[in-house]
Amino acid sequence: MGNDQSSINKNMEIVSGHVFRGRTGQSQLDPAVVDRYNSIPYPKTHILAEYVWVDAKGECRSKTRTLPACDMESIECPKWNFDGSSTDQAPGDDSEVIMHPCRVFKDPFRIRDDEFDNILVMCDCYTPAGEAIPTNQRFKALKSFDGHDDEVVWFGCEQEFTLINLDEKTPFGFPLDAMPTRAQGPYYCSVGPENNFGRGITEAAYKACIYAGIAISGCNGEVMPGQQEYQVGPCVGIDSGDQVMMSRYILQRVCEDFQVFCTFHPKPMKGDWNGAGMHTNVSTKAMREDGGLEVIKQAIYKLGAKHAEHIKVYGEDNEQRLTGKHETASMEKFSYGVANRGASIRIGRETWNDGKGYFEDRRPSSNCDPYIVTGKIMETIMGPEAPVIAPMDKQN
Ligand code: ADP
Ligand code: MN
Ligand code: MN
Ligand code: MN
Repeated sequence: MGNDQSSINKNMEIVSGHVFRGRTGQSQLDPAVVDRYNSIPYPKTHILAEYVWVDAKGECRSKTRTLPACDMESIECPKWNFDGSSTDQAPGDDSEVIMHPCRVFKDPFRIRDDEFDNILVMCDCYTPAGEAIPTNQRFKALKSFDGHDDEVVWFGCEQEFTLINLDEKTPFGFPLDAMPTRAQGPYYCSVGPENNFGRGITEAAYKACIYAGIAISGCNGEVMPGQQEYQVGPCVGIDSGDQVMMSRYILQRVCEDFQVFCTFHPKPMKGDWNGAGMHTNVSTKAMREDGGLEVIKQAIYKLGAKHAEHIKVYGEDNEQRLTGKHETASMEKFSYGVANRGASIRIGRETWNDGKGYFEDRRPSSNCDPYIVTGKIMETIMGPEAPVIAPMDKQN
């Protein structure tokens, strides 16, 4: 009887009265059976295209279609539609939302061994009449970049995220309904089973991203147990938003395969635990050239003058994170400094010493919309001059 019950509940685990949907880290599907279908070759006549869009909450959704085989360089993906009444993006009596393909990546989940690639297609959303729908932040951001191609603005986004058990509340490395015995300190960039929780997932997502063609530039374990980071960039202009969004989609797909819950919430654990952000590193061509430090300072003054406007669009629940503690600046007051991780904006030591380079906006939350953040930064730094602000450090 006991045995029967345990085999029926093979994928259910009861720990301290909590029933998990399945076992964290284990697929509910038998890998041997799944492999049987994965090993079926794709026909040379067709490719599979996964159309990805951003929903009303800023999260990714996707659906699949078959397209005639074509190589990635010359493919022209057709527009497509989805049922917007199911995503709060259209009314039920006129439910079609039209996806316009913006950017194509290689699909790392449907690898094939012939000359073709299955693809992931980042899309933005329009009404059938061709108007951008209200949640189309990409369309709005494009306006900020319009006419500024000569600036060749680069963004490097540090995407932090938190890995959580399938109970959707216990981060990796946390005991159930209790706090880790050791405070923050040993977990950042850590190694060892007692320090790094979920590296395998970050590594899998990293590999999937780099295969897809995303400019993923690094990764590291973060300060809170279960928290991890990867960086995307530098990417030019609107491409940063496309790449960050697709990287989030890929990470979520990897977490689906691993059966691990992933959140971008900026403060998943209350108390003395770091929140999660999306530090946004920025430079224009002028900032990267000799004399660039002066251009960087001017940009920072402009950002300071519009601090409240930026905070407003830098992510939901960000006020729980930007407290002035845990390597953040208080959201009440704008500040900047060299190598200062308690400032709103940090100028790296190297940039300061070289007199050129980039700056880091530390304010965006990990669940921010990358189109809004990059667009807003662009709009502000291309805007009118602003009064000088004194830096928040001793040496200057
Ligand atoms: P941190 O020291 O704050 O943890 P990271 O190494 O995690 O910084 O991330 C820095 C990001 O900045 C990377 O994505 C990197 O590609 C990007 N970056 C480097 N140089 C520039 C530049 N000139 N302009 C914009 N982004 C840059
Ligand atoms: Mn980083
Ligand atoms: Mn970080
Ligand atoms: Mn950073």
